[in-house]
Amino acid sequence: MQFHHHGYVSGDPRVQPASGVGLDRPGELPDEVDVLIVGTGPAGMLTAAQLSRFPGVTTRIVERRPGRLVIGQADGIQARSVETFQAFGFAERIIAEAYRITEMAFWKPDPADHSRIARAARTPDDPTGISEFPHLIVNQARVLDYFAEYMANAPVRMSPDYGYEFRSLEVGDGDYPVTVRLVHTSGPEEGQMLVVRARYVVGADGARSKVRESIGCTMAGDQAHHAWGVMDVLAVTDFPDIRTKCAIQSGAGGSILLIPREGGHLFRMYVDLGEIAPEGRGPCAAPPSSRSSAMRTPSCTRTPWTSATSPGTACMRLPTASRTGSTTSFRTSAGRAHPACSSPAMPATRTAPRPARA
Ligand SMILES: Cc1cc2nc3c(=O)[nH]c(=O)nc-3n(C[C@H](O)[C@H](O)[C@H](O)COP(=O)(O)OP(=O)(O)OC[C@H]3O[C@@H](n4cnc5c(N)ncnc54)[C@H](O)[C@@H]3O)c2cc1C
Repeated sequence: MQFHHHGYVSGDPRVQPASGVGLDRPGELPDEVDVLIVGTGPAGMLTAAQLSRFPGVTTRIVERRPGRLVIGQADGIQARSVETFQAFGFAERIIAEAYRITEMAFWKPDPADHSRIARAARTPDDPTGISEFPHLIVNQARVLDYFAEYMANAPVRMSPDYGYEFRSLEVGDGDYPVTVRLVHTSGPEEGQMLVVRARYVVGADGARSKVRESIGCTMAGDQAHHAWGVMDVLAVTDFPDIRTKCAIQSGAGGSILLIPREGGHLFRMYVDLGEIAPEGRGPCAAPPSSRSSAMRTPSCTRTPWTSATSPGTACMRLPTASRTGSTTSFRTSAGRAHPACSSPAMPATRTAPRPARA
């Protein structure tokens, strides 16, 4: 962190004095702005945080949601991305609340009995040491919170303008050549249109970008047409690798990616649902029920929300292990102890089940 550039700073050096357009920044969206950013995902928030350092530039960032992202979307943060967080001064704080990925386990069908799974390998996550920072798991919402804090403490005192949906834009002439049509998505003015003129518009509105469509562009590159069910799960289990990132493959062709979440209790489960139609929302080529998994869930105490595209929170009971002598054996959904998984390195105490919340 660098400060004392222009004399002694005795307060919090993260909070910079308000200046320029930050001194009398209006609460409402003005009619004219220098830069209008559409979308408060990582791309939009990083751009806004960077621009918030320039007191002479009027930047606004609009978002159709009524408020901050609460749950969902990305959780895996590559180590090189944490270097970017360091540039904004919040790497240490986000590392402290994150789960660190240090290794990955691979579970495959047991060669002796394909109805069961066995751990096939355990590999270090970053054998080459790509960065001084770790590979993290932390809710995307927290990343966005830190960028929001940065811009709120920057000279322009910026905060996202929630509850505005981008509809269209036209490019003309003049000092503010881009005419943008927005609609209020919440509050007393819900449904009402408004127009903002901008010098520049940044389309950070995600994969199905309306800004991109408005300027006549299409996405270049490859797209995968594959569906994954995603859940954040609070489980009762003693699956030995529940606190390790795992790729789990069943003999019937189903696969699960298991990623422990920050905070020590939840984990995220991606379940392979198969190929979907190129339009993106069609049925899976192979229905989930036919893609049996060795980590099938015998009981589920609470499932407030799940999705095929974004994560919710579930609470469930997974297959349990039995303890025999000094070793622990993993039981698959068939319910019998699995000797191939017996290992002194998998003590039951390490994965002791916690009571499920109702
Ligand atoms: C379930 C899931 C898990 C993922 N896991 C990972 C992971 O572990 N690691 C990783 O690196 N990536 C992951 N990703 C991908 C990651 O979330 C995206 O790459 C990233 O969010 C893209 O950022 P973005 O800012 O471009 O767009 P987005 O994050 O999609 O943000 C776009 C924003 O624009 C807003 N918006 C859209 N249209 C409009 C409009 N017309 N008007 C106003 N606002 C609008 C949206 O509400 C949204 O807030 C995951 C994605 C999903 C869905």
